[in-house]
Amino acid sequence: MGAYYDEIEIEDMAWDEEKRVYHYPCPCGDRFEISRSQLANYEDIAACPSCSLIIRVIYDPLDFEDEPPDDDDSGEAEEEEDDEEDESDDDKFEDALEKLTISDEAPNVLAVSA
Ligand SMILES: [Zn+2]
Repeated sequence: MGAYYDEIEIEDMAWDEEKRVYHYPCPCGDRFEISRSQLANYEDIAACPSCSLIIRVIYDPLDFEDEPPDDDDSGEAEEEEDDEEDESDDDKFEDALEKLTISDEAPNVLAVSA
């Protein structure tokens, strides 16, 4: 079927918090709309309620099938967690270096007292 007005990636659509739909501007002045539950049901056609045009939404159904319909912030939260994990890895590495330094000095202390 080549009847789509356009193909739009989900990242390029806007989220309407009140109506709980993704939307994209339609050339008629209204907008294409598709709900999160439609995406979860593998539907990828967003229709404009004011005219006959439709668009195909490019998205990964796996991003929607297991999530509750009200949760829409998972993407940004994951990026912040990645940064924190990098910092904690550095701390562990520095701790390991300190322990190595202490164990290297121990024989010298024994040698001086002997
Ligand atoms: Zn329209």
